[in-house]
Amino acid sequence: MDVIYKLFWVITYFIKIMIVSRFAPSPTGLLHLGHAYSALLAFRLAKKRNGIFRLRIENIDITRCKKVYEDSIYEDLHWLGVKWKKDIVRQSDRIPLYQYYLKILEEKDLVYGCKCSRSDINNALSALSIPINSFDSKIYPGTCKEKKLSIWNNNVRVDIEKIKKYLGNIILSFNENGLGPNGETGVQHFDINWLQKKYGDFIVARKDIRTSYNLAVTVDDHSQNISLVSRGNDLFYVTPIHVLLQKLFNFQIPNFFHHRLIIDKKGKKLSKTKKSVSLNQLRMEGISLDEIKSMLDI
Ligand code: GLU
Repeated sequence: MDVIYKLFWVITYFIKIMIVSRFAPSPTGLLHLGHAYSALLAFRLAKKRNGIFRLRIENIDITRCKKVYEDSIYEDLHWLGVKWKKDIVRQSDRIPLYQYYLKILEEKDLVYGCKCSRSDINNALSALSIPINSFDSKIYPGTCKEKKLSIWNNNVRVDIEKIKKYLGNIILSFNENGLGPNGETGVQHFDINWLQKKYGDFIVARKDIRTSYNLAVTVDDHSQNISLVSRGNDLFYVTPIHVLLQKLFNFQIPNFFHHRLIIDKKGKKLSKTKKSVSLNQLRMEGISLDEIKSMLDI
């Protein structure tokens, strides 16, 4: 019995220190060199430490995601030589799971339903004489906060004032193993007042898709046991939102590795919507994987 007990703890210890990284593309277009960098880096971070690399298809936005783009993600990753654990997570299959976590927030009375359209919000803000284009215009003025609207057929917002009361005056933190856009690295501290000023009562579930990127990514990184979240540094400043949700759900906070973004010759970030040259196109042109790696310096 003693041996089995010890073995159990040894296995648990190794699972805990093992790196589990992930690549989480959205199938809204063809992948470009920026995605190649992200996937190769996450794969390498796991492989270097005999860890696990996972794939997640972030396809909650049904209006923009397409199966053809999902299929080309698998093709591109095969070509890049990236190998993932078989159990791929597809977010569109997990809406009930996100609803389960939404319910937890509702039971704690930390969220509320919101009917406001973008123009309602702009009108409310201009009535408060806050210039529409100022930083503050992103902050929801709280129009629906006291209306007690259902969270099940409306947008859902967090009530950040209530969260402040619920968690108390705590400092949250996460460990940045890579670099933020302004060179941030190491332990990053922030408090809920900072979050409130930057994001206000942010949306955790959209009426049409019943979740949001922030909620889905938090739930999925936890349920896939991701210990190292590696992704582009354009997502560095939303990481505090994920850490806040992780805290509210009592999840372990993973480590983060934000990486540089790949830019084009004009110095602009590559993007699917701006139709940056795709991996598929590069492959058709006969560019080899080694050439891609040397272009990306990885
Ligand atoms: N799905 C996001 C994208 O394609 C990545 C989100 C993440 O890595 O957290 O840009």
